[in-house]
Amino acid sequence: MPSTQRLATKAIHAGEPEPRILGSVTVPIFQSAMYETSGREGYHHTRYIRLNNSPNHLALHGKLAALESADAALVAASGMAAISGALLTVLSAGDHLLIQDSLYGGTHDFVTQDLPAFGISYDFINADQPETWAAKRKRNTRALYVETMSNPLLQVNDLLAAVAFARAEGLVSLIDNTFASPVNFRPSERGFDLSLHSCTKYLNGHSDIVAGAIIGKQDLVESVRRKLNHLGGSLDPHACFLLDRGIKTLAVRMRQHNESALTIARFFEGHRAVSAVNYPGLAGHHRHARARELFDGFGGILSLELTGGLTAAERFMEKVRIPIRAPSLGGVESLVTRPATTSHSGMAPEERRKLGISDSLIRVSVGLEAPEDLIEDFDQALA
Ligand code: PLP
Repeated sequence: MPSTQRLATKAIHAGEPEPRILGSVTVPIFQSAMYETSGREGYHHTRYIRLNNSPNHLALHGKLAALESADAALVAASGMAAISGALLTVLSAGDHLLIQDSLYGGTHDFVTQDLPAFGISYDFINADQPETWAAKRKRNTRALYVETMSNPLLQVNDLLAAVAFARAEGLVSLIDNTFASPVNFRPSERGFDLSLHSCTKYLNGHSDIVAGAIIGKQDLVESVRRKLNHLGGSLDPHACFLLDRGIKTLAVRMRQHNESALTIARFFEGHRAVSAVNYPGLAGHHRHARARELFDGFGGILSLELTGGLTAAERFMEKVRIPIRAPSLGGVESLVTRPATTSHSGMAPEERRKLGISDSLIRVSVGLEAPEDLIEDFDQALA
């Protein structure tokens, strides 16, 4: 597939088998756990769903690598399978990790509750203050981990400094690119070693599967593949099929998510019942200039605080009619949640407060409904 193609074209055609399987325009679901062998090949030639090498897996690997202009990709059973699998590949007992302090809750809990049992230590860093990182680097530091946009405050950290620091210090650089999706940011093009995704979100886009991906340098992706073969976090072929189908509309969906979220962020910004809006596309966002330089769009997620605090936030959550009160994000339907009770409930309240995540913070995943309808609905909920 020529690499000069635009992302919208790659999302549809990259990775698809050539020639087509019996002429089939889509990749059929290969619902077979194992595949016949010649009897003369070794284990590494075995085709088996857990080894992530059915035709459905291979099509997705080609597509995902092409979307981020990367060497290679691998799908996994969930975003957390991708994140835990990647971290357990690049880190071993005795190693140390530098990791952004405001993290997706599941990653935070894995790092703080599980990595120490593997003999792996970590230090949190403020990913917007590169001048503080060297003091936390240890002799045994092996990797640096950041997120493209922080959840739920939508901070845009110094991603280019993260790549430069990792290179200078000989560390593996990893980034969770779920919030941006390959449409808005492609980590390999900026020098990251591994990009991780919860494909449950934008990549699939329809809130009907859980899936993950690891995208990046060939040797590292291959090492993660071997690790996941042992850990067992492979994606089922039927979920592969649905993910492949979802990715085909990624470019057009993201364009609308970007546009609607910006319109809605501006509406909230101008509303007197709203005291703060976190969205990198707003000119008033702390790192708007950086976001413009790094991203092709600002994504579909925003968070806000109401002047009436927690009581007003609870009332707002009850009064909205179109968005569904549910965790997760990135689907066609708008969702609202209070991170203190969902994604970040595993954190101690004082830890949340230190990061600026108040109990009254509301996160909105702007879906693909007409933005005018969403604004009318938000307006009545704020009244
Ligand atoms: N990374 C981010 C930024 C997320 O928001 C999530 C889930 O909400 C994950 C990773 C974990 O993904 P999954 O639920 O697919 O395991």
